[in-house]
Amino acid sequence: MLSMNERARSQSLFREALDLLPGGVSSPVRAFHSVGGTPIFMARGSGSRVWDVDGNEYVDYCCSWGPLALGHAPPPVVEAIQRTAALGTSFGTPHADEVGLARLVRELQPLAERIRFVSSGTEAVMSAVRVARGFTKRDLIVKFDGCYHGHADYLLVKAGSGLATSGQADSAGVPEGIAATTVVLPLDDEAAVREFFAQRGSEVAAVIAEPVPANCGLLLQRPEWLACLREETEKAGSLLILDEVISGFRLGPGGAAALYGIKPDLLTFGKVIGGGLPVGAYAGRREVMEVIAPLGPVYQAGTLSGNPLAMAAGRAALGALRDGGFERLNELGAEAEAIWTPVLDKHPVRLVRTGSIFWLSFQDPAPRSYGAIERAGAERYAALHGALLERGVYWAPSAFEVGFVSTAHTTADFEKTAQALAEGLAIAFGGAK
Ligand SMILES: *Cc1c(COP(=O)(O)O)cnc(C)c1O
Repeated sequence: MLSMNERARSQSLFREALDLLPGGVSSPVRAFHSVGGTPIFMARGSGSRVWDVDGNEYVDYCCSWGPLALGHAPPPVVEAIQRTAALGTSFGTPHADEVGLARLVRELQPLAERIRFVSSGTEAVMSAVRVARGFTKRDLIVKFDGCYHGHADYLLVKAGSGLATSGQADSAGVPEGIAATTVVLPLDDEAAVREFFAQRGSEVAAVIAEPVPANCGLLLQRPEWLACLREETEKAGSLLILDEVISGFRLGPGGAAALYGIKPDLLTFGKVIGGGLPVGAYAGRREVMEVIAPLGPVYQAGTLSGNPLAMAAGRAALGALRDGGFERLNELGAEAEAIWTPVLDKHPVRLVRTGSIFWLSFQDPAPRSYGAIERAGAERYAALHGALLERGVYWAPSAFEVGFVSTAHTTADFEKTAQALAEGLAIAFGGAK
């Protein structure tokens, strides 16, 4: 085991943060509430590694919760940001990199006939839902139990992620009338979808789904389930929104839509599309997207939308992914699985993986719906998480968050992680310390 420094500086910064930021953080899961201990303040990152403010080095599988498909500070992205920043950071006018990134997005995902850039995944989803409502002139949204679509009021209903660990089914501050415009159905259940559409299909503006639900563990769906969503929405004149904020530009050029062969009306993007800067986007069929202002009656705007730095970073990142990065991500995901599986097989845990997204399931077979997840796994994970940190491996501080491999990860990283997993799992399952 590596000798690690005490995390004294992180702890002192966290004490200071607690006096300034609610819970000491800018986003809840970062606070480590579900794994115990105090959050680690990172100072820098390079490739697959990060260093904390006390000088400890970690192999990073959180990767900023997904955006860093090329790892930390990849030279093409850093150069693009530096070059662009020197010319001015924002103009509030159209910019060439906005056109460049949109062209690249459509080249990779031709279903994105028209694209609107925003600044987060939440904003992308909120806007896509408004477009769906404006286009169909209907109000009702159907989502699935355990799918997270950002923190807009009407989508914070049974939304997994940070909410799953804290046991909240919902958020305070969401008016009942607004929550009532969302209907929640279980994942992995075509009969529930068909039954609902038989009764109320004509009221549904859109069905929104994570095609690869990755915010409450990794609840991989059967292709038949996605095909059923497409079929029922089409029959009812409702739109299908695939939320590819995690899966987009990570599972391949066409994301999960291409992987499953599903053609949604609207797609939402975030995370990888910004190359580590704050970018979201929604996109889709031209006739649907043209209801947005200034062409149509659905209003949506943003002071910093299409920001030059963010567009340049996204353009550099997607360019590198197109030029071999997508294949590399999938190869490295498979390699990690091959190296870790013999270690995991010694315990009742298994790796659930699609491409470079993975999750440790503490039950076998792995669950495919929120209701099927056994909560006991979270305690084991908390113990494992602490042990991994002490061994220089940084996994997301929650049993229900997925991990990510980047193109910068190496065989040596996976081997180091296998050793840490072997020791960490022995501790988590009550073996020797
Ligand atoms: C992360 C995520 C969001 C929210 O994106 P933010 O940039 O955090 O607002 C929405 N949908 C999915 C599927 C996500 O994974």
